Amino acid sequence: MIKAWFLLVTLLLFTTNDILAQSHVTTTGSFCRYAKNSLRNKNVYAEGHTQCPACDAEDAKEAVARKAEDKRRADAKAAERAAAALEKKRAEDALLKKKWEEANKGSTELAVTMPANKTTANVPSAVTPAVINGMAAGYLYDEGETDNQSVGKMSFSINQGERNNQIYKLYSDINYFVLNNKRILDNDEFKVCIGVRRIPGGPQNNPTKFPPGVGIVILNETAGKHVIADLIDAKGERLLKDNNISTIVHFFGDYFILLEGEVFSHGGGTSYGFSDGVIYNYKTKQRYPLAKYGSKRNRVNVAWQVNATYLSKDKLREKSTYSAFVEVITDWQKSMFYYITHDGKVESDDINW
Ligand SMILES: [Zn+2]
Repeated sequence: MIKAWFLLVTLLLFTTNDILAQSHVTTTGSFCRYAKNSLRNKNVYAEGHTQCPACDAEDAKEAVARKAEDKRRADAKAAERAAAALEKKRAEDALLKKKWEEANKGSTELAVTMPANKTTANVPSAVTPAVINGMAAGYLYDEGETDNQSVGKMSFSINQGERNNQIYKLYSDINYFVLNNKRILDNDEFKVCIGVRRIPGGPQNNPTKFPPGVGIVILNETAGKHVIADLIDAKGERLLKDNNISTIVHFFGDYFILLEGEVFSHGGGTSYGFSDGVIYNYKTKQRYPLAKYGSKRNRVNVAWQVNATYLSKDKLREKSTYSAFVEVITDWQKSMFYYITHDGKVESDDINW
């Protein structure tokens, strides 16, 4: 019965549409394509001639269809290119892997014979960590290539969508780490996994010294209005277990910046506000609270990125004296700069702009 009604209503709608549809104005010399001496597509100005709205409507419809077809073709071409790029990348990776396996085979034999050769000159004293496909062994890598020193990039909304590899855009969720060339924690426990930033074809030397055996995750559960971030080990064990933490930014080496609560933007994307925050050394578990903003001291206002400020360079320490810094805005024209020194200490400067 419902089906019959539906058919009837549809039929009525189409009929009405038909009646309303304009008919062609076929007067001789009009702009109708069916007119005798039609002016349509003749490079003639429309003014002063009889128009044909029906032809105009048909042409408009056709233009829309043509546009859709063009888009479909462009999309197909882009997909083809992406597939070819991926294929090339896979071939390169396979070749690199083979090379690594061959090299590794050699070094294993070398390692076995080395102790007997103690007197030989130029034997490397330290064992260089194994590198597979540009990834050092023991480190949790991020195929999503997220900038883990960017507060903006590391703040996720509770409605966070899929995260893609920025180069290949395969539209699949990258919610796993790569450890020793294998995917780990590839399940739905974590929404986002951020480790050592790895850009295929880019620098592979981990310049910010993201530590081995640890990664940053966004859990698949929320607390109030914010996501829950944590540090985890290779087994997926939560290291902080503090549901107030919504955002974790890698600072330098063993230091992370832990930020609490819902993120709110302040200062047009140049800084982000949080209810609280600390600099945290995940190895020593030492905590350095971040200075709070204004007289109310009810929030922490962190600059958008580690090693970023819009203040002139003379407000900063001499570049050769530190490994990284982060600016925390503490008041109108006041900032606290936190530094990680070369000997791995946290130091701070109170700066008036
Ligand atoms: Zn017409």
